[in-house]
Amino acid sequence: MIERRELNSWQAPGYLEAREGRLTVDGVDAAALVDQYGSPLYVFSEKRIVGNTRNLRRAVEGVHTRVKVCYASKANSTMAVLAAVLRAGGDIEVNSGGELFKARTAGFKPEQIVFNGVSKTDDEIRAAIDFGILAINIDSLFELEQVTRAARELGKRANVAIRIVPEIITRSHIGLQTGLLSSKFGLSPSQIDEAFSRALAAPDAINLAGVHIHVGSQTPDLQPFARAFAEMWKFVAGLSKRTGHRIAHINIGGGLPIDYLGETPMAADIGEREREMLSATLDPGEVLRAALDEAAPSGKQELELIEGLTIIFEPGRRIIADTGLLLTSVCNIKERPETGDTWLLTDAGYSLALSMAMYKWYYHLISATRAKESHDTPYKVAGPLCDSGDVYFDLERGARLPNYRLLPQGTGPGDVLALLNTGAYALDQASQYNGRPKPAVVMIRESGEASVVRRAETYEDLVSLDNWVSSQ
Ligand SMILES: *Cc1c(COP(=O)(O)O)cnc(C)c1O
Repeated sequence: MIERRELNSWQAPGYLEAREGRLTVDGVDAAALVDQYGSPLYVFSEKRIVGNTRNLRRAVEGVHTRVKVCYASKANSTMAVLAAVLRAGGDIEVNSGGELFKARTAGFKPEQIVFNGVSKTDDEIRAAIDFGILAINIDSLFELEQVTRAARELGKRANVAIRIVPEIITRSHIGLQTGLLSSKFGLSPSQIDEAFSRALAAPDAINLAGVHIHVGSQTPDLQPFARAFAEMWKFVAGLSKRTGHRIAHINIGGGLPIDYLGETPMAADIGEREREMLSATLDPGEVLRAALDEAAPSGKQELELIEGLTIIFEPGRRIIADTGLLLTSVCNIKERPETGDTWLLTDAGYSLALSMAMYKWYYHLISATRAKESHDTPYKVAGPLCDSGDVYFDLERGARLPNYRLLPQGTGPGDVLALLNTGAYALDQASQYNGRPKPAVVMIRESGEASVVRRAETYEDLVSLDNWVSSQ
């Protein structure tokens, strides 16, 4: 029984299933999509994007009346994805002028947009003020002056939130931790009162609307969120007591984890710390409850203050990671007699899933063409790039990825594989490295129809932006 559960543990009823031996996404045969739209191929489920957005909203709305779920668009800013989030009642977080442009183009209203970034340009700031967004999250005292100046020039008041770096450690990758004083983000706690004073001293230019903390991505525990919230609350309550100024929102950032491992048998190869981080799940309602508990407001005034607050979440991964997968074909097979390994070479390398190389991120791999067969044969699996690091295991043997991938016996050229949970931080980080046009993106619509929401790039696209003189 256990074996059977492990074999099918990746299945999500109604979304990812094995039907007649083949992987289906919302009932659509995945490998058939590759036949039709080419390989590799990103596939997304609109139903699941809408469901994830609504579920998250519902979970936090059950705990506090005023909430906003600002989808972190850097996780995946495909226009059809943004449109699905918007339709499902989501708001949006942007991290650049380009993401702001995409959010506006997708139809998000100013009061739905928050803007983060450590290095905003004058142009980006002007665009944000001009559109009148909910909050520019201020990353330094310098930036506060920059925004004040831009607002005066435009003759428009800027809504701002102060980003605090709280020195909160999480059990995620160091590269994904953003709440440490050694990270590049935010203002130190010792600078917050100064930032508040300067903001309140410029009422013609600045509306001090909020405070913000983002503790990092794939944060596996409640405590960092709770501590971050309590830290922000302390500043908000203190300011109100001192000056009477009421902050309108507390933004608790993103970082809600998703379970990348499930019950996969290969997980045994991965180090324990890594395993715990990758398989974490947190209930967003519980996160918010723990945060409010930790803040522990007391007395009528504080209770009123906290009730009036809007609490903002900025989930990226949690909304989009498990709504998408990357289909890839096996193009080549080779034996390495000296090591006894069988190698499968695919057409999807780290240029399509950069985290696999950068963070040695685990994406569960299954066969789309033999989905029902026992995944019990170890293979070395690698992508097509001319780079030794382009492999689906941890080349440095750091126990971050399993050394082998288990796939059905006899897997080889002609088979289609699926890297699961690649909806976040894959497509948006994709590149044309090695002269490889980026693949098409297909979305299974809520109607059940498959539609191409981003066309595949062509060889022409590889040269279309270049300016050069042919020597011929
Ligand atoms: C990246 C980022 C997020 C989203 O993080 P997830 O782990 O995808 O939820 C939210 N807020 C800020 C400021 C970010 O930089």
